[in-house]
This record gives sequence, structure tokens and C-alpha cells, in this order.
Amino acid sequence: MSLFTGLEAQVRENEPLGPMTWLGIGGPARYFIEPATAEALKQAALRCRENGLGVFVLGGGANLLIDDAGVKGAVIRLNGPEFARISICEGQIRAGAYFDMGKLVLRCVREGLSGLEALTGIPGTVGGCVRMNAGGAFGDIASAIKTVQIMTSDGEIFTRLREDMAFGYRSSNIAGKFILSAEFQLSEDDPHRILKQVKEIWMFKKNTQPLSKSTAGCTFKNPRGMSAGALIDRAGLKGRRVGGACVSERHANFIIADEGTTAADVLKLINVIRDTVHEKSGVYLELEIEVW
Ligand SMILES: Cc1cc2nc3c(=O)[nH]c(=O)nc-3n(C[C@H](O)[C@H](O)[C@H](O)COP(=O)(O)OP(=O)(O)OC[C@H]3O[C@@H](n4cnc5c(N)ncnc54)[C@H](O)[C@@H]3O)c2cc1C
Repeated sequence: MSLFTGLEAQVRENEPLGPMTWLGIGGPARYFIEPATAEALKQAALRCRENGLGVFVLGGGANLLIDDAGVKGAVIRLNGPEFARISICEGQIRAGAYFDMGKLVLRCVREGLSGLEALTGIPGTVGGCVRMNAGGAFGDIASAIKTVQIMTSDGEIFTRLREDMAFGYRSSNIAGKFILSAEFQLSEDDPHRILKQVKEIWMFKKNTQPLSKSTAGCTFKNPRGMSAGALIDRAGLKGRRVGGACVSERHANFIIADEGTTAADVLKLINVIRDTVHEKSGVYLELEIEVW
């Protein structure tokens, strides 16, 4: 622990990461750090830099596959109370990076604030959803973002305006390692109308996605103008299995990790899908999930 002398209270060694992800698999983090405050985060980030440790920021783990060998560097999770705060004022919500996205959508319904309905049924934290520009057919989070508060790897904090950031399909150009919070500009609306839309989106997801299984959501990005799920389905891969990992029968772009699945199973299945789809349709699928 000598690398983190003085910061021991927030650092654990060889911490299993699988249980912190939605897939539920993968090895440990060499160093796992949970700073309680922004100041503690700064100290931890500086220590990682001084020691040349690679830093990975963990949100809700809904878009991640952790390798069986784990992560050699430091994994930092901002789950202290300071990072899970929320404040609401005149149609604007500021939410900490670790605030749960599902809870934020429901809070908006209660407050009669419209703009985040498209995030219904998307698991994760505000930080993860902003970094990924989470969304889908109903819209994405970028359209509601007003500002994002960020900390760099050397502990400098600054705020970026929506117009100074670029958001793309499941991506953002946010420079700065840590998203600390985000502010959303929403519009007042009838809570019943918002709830109706949230329910419709939820029912759509429930009927089309394997929501009760261990997955990381869509495995591949949709190629321009095409659906990755449809390409995988047309390649005859629904139900294809490698070890404990299998292609969902309900939504072909979801890989399900049954009990006993290893990350190696999932990675092999990803290669099988890529090769088969490429062979049958000439399209090379790009990963949407991140592999650590
Ligand atoms: C059942 C299911 C359905 C899904 N459906 C959708 C969908 O419809 N649309 C969609 O877009 N996604 C979907 N996903 C994927 C996932 O919900 C999103 O990618 C979400 O944004 C991940 O958030 P997270 O907090 O879990 O981030 P993580 O998975 O923990 O991390 C994702 C990325 O964000 C970074 N990150 C996380 N927190 C921070 C932070 N505070 N500061 C800086 N970087 C950070 C991580 O380093 C990583 O690069 C689905 C996943 C599941 C399991």
C-alpha cells in the first residue's frame, strides 16, 4: 500500500470488479479507490499520476466487460455522498456523477420536468451516461445537458458549457478524466404526460430486451443506417453460445452472461459474431461496450 500512504482509508488492493458491473464477471482491480470528496479524488489522482498508474473511472458498470486478468492500474469509483447529490431549481437539475440515471428519470417525472425521458430503462450513473452520451431511438442525454463539471488528472476543476462540447453516437469529446456533475436544462410539463411517455418507453424496452439477465446492453454500435442487432440476427447467430456466454434470443445485440461465464467466453463470442457478420454481410461491427 506504500503508493497510497496517507490515503489508505479510501484504497483497497486486488478488489474484485465483477460484482460492480452488470455483466458480473472479470478479475480484480490492482488498486480500487473510492474517494469521498473532490479533494480526496484530487489527492488520489495525483498519487496515481506520480506513480505512473493507469486510471479507470467506474460508474455503474453497465457498459463494461472486465478482463479475467482484471485491471493492472487504479480503478476509481466516485460513490461518496458528495458525488450523488442532486439539486433542482427553476427547471434546472444539477446531479452528481454517481446519481443513478433511473432515479433521475423518476425524479423528473415527479417534478414535472421533461427532457430526460429518453434515458428510461438505461442503467448507469449520470457520469457514465454523460461520458457515453447514452440514449437510443428516443433521443440521447446530450440534448438535455447544459453544463458538465470536470476534474482533470492533475486535480483541476472546471465547468464546460454544452456548446463547447461535442457529443456523437455513444460518445463525447469531454477532455478531463473525471466527470463530477452535470446540469440539465429541462422544460416544465404535465407529470402525467411525462409518466405516460416513460411507461411507453419502459414497455418497449421490456418487450425487446433481455432486461432480467446479466448483460452490458448493446454489444456493438449500429453501423451507419443499419441495425447491429438485425445484422447479427440475419447471420443466424441468435442463441449462439461460447461457454456461459450466449447471444440473446430476444435482442441479438445483447450478450447474456449465464452463471459461470468468463470474460474469455464473452470475448470469444464477440469474435465469432464479428467474423460471421463480416462474412455474411461485409460489415465490420465496432464495439459499443468497453473492455478493461
Ligand atoms: C440492460 C442494459 C440496457 C442498456 N441500454 C442502453 C441504451 O438503450 N442506450 C445506451 O446508450 N446504453 C445502454 N446501456 C449501456 C449503459 O447503460 C450506458 O452506457 C451507461 O451510460 C453506462 O453508465 P455507467 O455509469 O454504468 O458507466 P460505466 O459502464 O461504469 O462506464 C462507461 C464509461 O463511462 C466512463 N465513466 C463512468 N463514470 C464516469 C465519470 N464519473 N467520469 C468520467 N467517466 C466516467 C467509464 O470510464 C467508461 O468509459 C445498457 C446497459 C444495460 C446493462
